[in-house]
Amino acid sequence: MSQNINHQDAKLFPLNYHDSRKRFLELAGMIPGGQLEHWQIPGKKDNDLFTDSIYWPPLEKSENLLVVTSGIHGSETYAGSAILQMFLREIMPALDRRNTGIWLVHAMNPFGFKYHRRVTENGVNLNRNFSVSGELYKTRNLESERMHSMLFKRAPVASLKSPMMDSLQVKDGVAYFGDVTMDQFTKATAPGQFVNPQDLEYGGKQLEPQSAKLVEKLKNLLPKFKDIVALDLHTGLGDQNRLHLLTSGSGKDLNPELFAKLFDTNADKEFYEHTPASAEGFYEVHGALNSAFADLASAQNRVCAITMEFGTLGHSLEAQLKGLNNFVAEHQGFYNGYANAELKSAIEKECFERSYPQSDEWRAAVVSASRGLFKAVCRRASILKD
Ligand SMILES: [Zn+2]
Repeated sequence: MSQNINHQDAKLFPLNYHDSRKRFLELAGMIPGGQLEHWQIPGKKDNDLFTDSIYWPPLEKSENLLVVTSGIHGSETYAGSAILQMFLREIMPALDRRNTGIWLVHAMNPFGFKYHRRVTENGVNLNRNFSVSGELYKTRNLESERMHSMLFKRAPVASLKSPMMDSLQVKDGVAYFGDVTMDQFTKATAPGQFVNPQDLEYGGKQLEPQSAKLVEKLKNLLPKFKDIVALDLHTGLGDQNRLHLLTSGSGKDLNPELFAKLFDTNADKEFYEHTPASAEGFYEVHGALNSAFADLASAQNRVCAITMEFGTLGHSLEAQLKGLNNFVAEHQGFYNGYANAELKSAIEKECFERSYPQSDEWRAAVVSASRGLFKAVCRRASILKD
């Protein structure tokens, strides 16, 4: 197996946030005509956190816009960075840009990238933070509150096993916590809540600085174009070493005609599979970055806003339980502390591994699947010169 790994692809994964930023800016700067933007993200102790982006306007006529966003969840930016580098090296030079604009965004959550956290310094999951009207912040997720009161402990973490795992029972291949299935727990909590940062999947009370900047930019860009394809890069969910395209199922952010034209899920199955939010172990979210495209698009836009998820631990029941246990324990520990430093470091290490497995086989698979997807989609959009 190991002799088949493309080590050049694996080397695209950066060492850290600053290395990643340097690589992105260097490569982006080599392609003429791009408009760079550097959004400084305020930090309590850091003055070097930036979300960087580059926009190449169409050379002749504005018809299509391709947007690729990376790192909305901090530790997942390692993969996002590698994919952007592959895109800049291999896809960009092969594109016919006469009618197509390209916007690439590096590290939506630089704090989370630098410190290996999923959320921002304010404890906000940015992929629950996009409410253009602000209405979402007034809502309550009562099912999530109920799950927390039943299963979530607010005490220092005392063991690798989170307290909710004490009530775990597996019956006929289904995991239960009391009378709640793991899928019910996930579908209740994962969509997000806007009340308490100490509960799972907090979406904030207002747009975080980088969310506001992204919304502002989209307000400016979207009216210029007809067809918009937006790909948001993530890791952690789904089958090991496999790329899943997640779509919200809301309809507004996925134009069926445009999706059918660009994504042939059968012909492309070597590279990815299409997984609807309703699938077991997956979920719909509120305030996702993709929803901003739907909220800001007009009637003449055709939008396909899609989440690209690369599986890490895998999707077996055992892997899902392991992932959930670690996710809950890390969250509990962050706010309530740990019994000792060894426990803290063990839980944080596993948490990081869930976003970024230390395996060249995984790294190469991420780049290879992305390359296959971008080529197939750009070819169908008639913008690939090959
Ligand atoms: Zn993610």
